[in-house]
Parts: sequence; C-alpha cells; structure tokens
Amino acid sequence: MKSYAFILFTFFTTLLTAQVTYLQCGSLFDAEKKKFLGPHTILIEGNQITAVKKGHQSPSNSEDRLIDLKSKTIYPGFIDMHVHIEGEYSPDRYLKVFQNNPEDVAYDAAAIARRTLMAGFTTVRDMGGTGVNIALRNAINNGKIKGPRIFTAGKAIGTTGGHADPTNGFRKDMVGDPGPKEGVINSVDDAKKAVRQRYKNGADWIKITATGGVLSVAKSGQNPQFAEEELAAITKTAADYGFKVAAHAHGDEGMYRAVANGVKTIEHGTLMEVRTMELMKAKQAYLVATISAGKFVAKQALIPGAYPEIIVPKALAIGAQIQETFKKAYEFGVPIAFGTDAGVYPHGENANEFIYMNEAGMPIEEAIHLATYVNAALLDMGNQLGQIKAGFLADIVATDQKADEEITTLTQVSFVMKNGEVIKQ
Ligand SMILES: [Zn+2]
Repeated sequence: MKSYAFILFTFFTTLLTAQVTYLQCGSLFDAEKKKFLGPHTILIEGNQITAVKKGHQSPSNSEDRLIDLKSKTIYPGFIDMHVHIEGEYSPDRYLKVFQNNPEDVAYDAAAIARRTLMAGFTTVRDMGGTGVNIALRNAINNGKIKGPRIFTAGKAIGTTGGHADPTNGFRKDMVGDPGPKEGVINSVDDAKKAVRQRYKNGADWIKITATGGVLSVAKSGQNPQFAEEELAAITKTAADYGFKVAAHAHGDEGMYRAVANGVKTIEHGTLMEVRTMELMKAKQAYLVATISAGKFVAKQALIPGAYPEIIVPKALAIGAQIQETFKKAYEFGVPIAFGTDAGVYPHGENANEFIYMNEAGMPIEEAIHLATYVNAALLDMGNQLGQIKAGFLADIVATDQKADEEITTLTQVSFVMKNGEVIKQ
C-alpha cells in the first residue's frame, strides 16, 4: 500500500515538473483554414501540444527547453496515404522476390521508414507488402526504431492473375494456388475470409486491386478484376471489423464498381470517367492520385531494361495520364487526399507530389491541407493528427522558406518532430 502511494506521489510530482518545450516559429501553417499565419510559440509536454500562442514566448523555468525556429515556417507533420514501406524500385526488383527473406525485407523497411520520417512524413498509410509492414508498425509504435506512424493494409487482396496475385509471372511449378490467406480471392466466401485473415494478422486497412496494374507481370493495366458480389462481400465484411477499404484502380469500370460498393479511396484513378467522378462526389469517396508514381514509371519505361517487357507499354500509357486525370477530378470537385505511391519511386521524395498537384492547378495551401487535415480525418485521427493545436500529438515539421513563396522548400524540410521527440534539426 505504501509503495503504491509512493508511485502515485512520484507520478504526480513528475507531471508537475514535466519539461515544457517552447517551439518558436516565424510562420505557422493553419491546416484547417489553409492559411499561413505569423510568428507563434508552440508549447509541448511529452508527446502532446499543450498550447499555441501568438508571438514569441520563452521558457521562464530553467527545466524547460527552447527550440528556436524563428526563421522557419512550421506545418503539422505530413501524411502520405499511399506508400509501400517494405521496399522500393530497383532494376532487380523482380529477382529480389526470390532472394529476400522476411528478415531482409524488415531491414530494408526499417531504413526506408527512417528516410520517410526524415523527409517530414510523420504518418503514412501502407498500401500493401508481404506483411512485414505490420511488424514494422509495431516496432515503431513501441519506440524500437525510428519511423513514421504506420497504418497498414498488410498484404493487398486481388484475384487469380490479378494485380495483387503474388505469383504472377512465375514458372508453372512455382505458381501454386494462392488463396485468401495470401490475398487472392475468387468467390464471396474467399472475400470474407481474406478480410478476416487481415483482421487476424493485425492490419489497419483493407487494400484491394480492383483493376490491373502497371508493375505486375500481366498483360492488362486496367481491366476490372473483381465481380460486384465479391466487392460487396469485402466492403461489408470490412465494415464489421472497423476497416475502410482502399482500391487500386486504373480502368474506369473497375473503379466505378469499387466506389458503387462502398470503397473509401481510389488509388491512381488513371482512366476515371465522368460517371465515376459523379459517384465519388455523391458517396464522398476520395481520389489518391499518386502523380509521383505515374511520372516516375513513364520516365523509367524509356530506359531499356528498367522493367520487364510486358510492363513497358503499360507504364508509358498509364503513367503519363495520371496528372491529367488528377486535374480533371480536382476541377470536377471529386474529394481528394494526398498520396504518392512511394516505393514505386524512391522513398523520401514524397514531397514532390505537392509540386505536381500545384502544377495541375491546385493551390499549395490546398495541397498541404490535404496532406495534413484531410488525410488525418480519413485515418480517423482527425482529433489527434493533422493540425498544430492544443491536445494534438506533437508531430511538427519546418521548412526554411514559406511554401507559398517557394514550393520546393517542402522537399527539404529542415526540422522534424514526431510525438514530441526531435528527429531532425
Ligand atoms: Zn501502390
């Protein structure tokens, strides 16, 4: 009893004397109102923002800490809704599938996670890997390694021969018969089982590949690959377990079916037609355009040997189209989130997406609002992430210049704080 009282006493005195960090900034981006404000001081205790005050205030207590960012602009930590944290593009990527053990994938992923965080992306949604991404998320959450907060789909779900079939293009004695556990479904029952398996594995989201894709060893990059009843089974089962569903889609028929059946985000959306834009507006489904990936694959496809031959025409046709479609969808009023498909291009260059969105006509304030406020809400973290506000988690990044004056400054963040911890300064 005595020791219990002592622990309580220690706990409360620790609270009373907790160190307060005073972070002074030259300009603060208000992610909700999409506005750059003047000088502010952010007070941080532990992993939380406790106050946001106008002007510059300094600590009065010698225990407290001052971070001087008076010459810099600060933003809430950026959120990327589409990354593949387990690996990234290399010319031997198709060979690595046969060489890498999960342990190799894990070490690669740890290095990538660190690079992503250093680029100012303090939270990411992982849209599919082998499942190592779940262990990585846990290791980061437990403070064992440095990386962004991860919300992961684990292994994506596709159909036989579809974009997420892990044995596409394999020699016939190696193809086997992957099923729901491996993320391949061919019936309503399989669909339910695959979602429940992801729940069991510890995923946060469900990702499906509603159409063909560019980088899979398969002919079509755009054909619909799920029947309506399979899509309905996935989204209904997902809802039972509190999952939202994201759908990779290039072709219009596949993405239309996906939205009609309750998918929340459409990834890429390359050949989206007006009927799908209308449906997405009506159902408040979001486009995650990943312009960065489109531009990268279109450029790489011109280099001989960069991709297997079957991929080259798909990369040329689809990659080049994404920015144009993004522009149309934005002008049409389709809800948009910020996501890049990092892994298809080198991780850490995520902020180029801001530039590409801006090139397509979106004001930079809007693009940053999406990468913070809107993405946080989509992740059901709208009351903890995406704003610099009392009660929110202390995820803060800074740039040397104001992004509305020099947009490329976003690609070189000079300060990163995650959960109140300074990661880069
Ligand atoms: Zn992807």
